[in-house]
Amino acid sequence: MPIRSSALPQSANPLTSFSLAEQPQVRAAMDWFAKNLKWINDLQSALTEIPAPSFQEEKRAASVKAVFAAEGLPAQTDKLGNVIAELRGANDKECILIAAHLDTVFPADTNVKVQREGDRLLAPGISDNGTGLAAIVAIARALQAAKLRPQRTILFAANVGEEGEGNLRGMRALIDAYRTKLRAVIVLDGSGTDHVTTKALASRRLEVTITGPGGHSWSDFGMVNPINALVRGSVRFINTKIPVSPRTTFNLGQVEGGTSVNSIPHEAKLKVDLRSESEDELVRLESALRDCIATGVKDETDNARDRSKGKLEWKVEMIGRRPGGELTADSALLASLRAADDYLGNQSRIERSSTDANIPLSLGIEAIAIGAGGNGGGAHSLQEWYEPAGRELGLQRALLTLLGVAGVAPEKAR
Ligand SMILES: [Zn+2]
Repeated sequence: MPIRSSALPQSANPLTSFSLAEQPQVRAAMDWFAKNLKWINDLQSALTEIPAPSFQEEKRAASVKAVFAAEGLPAQTDKLGNVIAELRGANDKECILIAAHLDTVFPADTNVKVQREGDRLLAPGISDNGTGLAAIVAIARALQAAKLRPQRTILFAANVGEEGEGNLRGMRALIDAYRTKLRAVIVLDGSGTDHVTTKALASRRLEVTITGPGGHSWSDFGMVNPINALVRGSVRFINTKIPVSPRTTFNLGQVEGGTSVNSIPHEAKLKVDLRSESEDELVRLESALRDCIATGVKDETDNARDRSKGKLEWKVEMIGRRPGGELTADSALLASLRAADDYLGNQSRIERSSTDANIPLSLGIEAIAIGAGGNGGGAHSLQEWYEPAGRELGLQRALLTLLGVAGVAPEKAR
């Protein structure tokens, strides 16, 4: 699908970061970050300390909404729980979306209190996506403080459902709602300034369920066992040959089943994550999983001594699917990011990964995902950390990229 161009019309503002940064209001917005680092860092810690597993983002969302409102930028919450604040542009018929996901991979009872070790902040979710959330709010506030009116309307969104089984549902809803006006999407996810994701990694998540009659480990021995069948099928699947290139991966991520050590279980479940640079490989891998489970069930049935007590049923269901896509090399959004990097003396490499940008990219809408500055590590682990030093570079980079595609309204239009 052709990617819709995010280029501003010729008559609009200059696109380069050099000419953008010469405008006093842009300069003021850029300078706002360094003067307000403590506020940004504190906001990041405060948001991180509100638990927000996927599907339970309400409290964190309410807090982001309150901060937007306090800045004089009224925000709305859509029916999924996405928080959207609008900075109206001179041309309200076109908009740019800048978004950061609210949710984390951590269960609600995880200790998310931020610990400090020198300049380092430690807490699950502090970087992914505490950094992105603090950044969208900071960018909105910097533009407000500089009284900068964009040419195109800017939508600041803190969206739900990016992680795991959230399945990008928040971004899907945002794209649905604004599709006709949307010219580009900038996703702020995690920390750093060293990369730009322009290629969306396609993935499929599947859940295998095998059920059987269940029984007593001694007296019913010999009947079909769903866990045995799952193990037989899984071992076959693990041995499936997958290509190094196009890079393709699988992960058996979660298993469940059984009720006690001395019961033949009546159910076994397995969740599997499949990813590939190639849609064809994904299709092949999904069908391999189905075949392997079918064979595992057959092996278990063939080997059961006593088939009179019932049989196995099985199914493989899709619990998540993220479409692939790619930004073209002549993208105006990518040019804007490159111009920002040049202006700021930053170097970054193109990456393929699975982010909220998958959705717009798969629909032909220009989109990138970038880190929001500073340094972070240990994403999705309890040891996750963030160091804010130098974060203003990431914030300025995001701001200039955003204004490169949103434009700055000429004085007379303000
Ligand atoms: Zn993230």
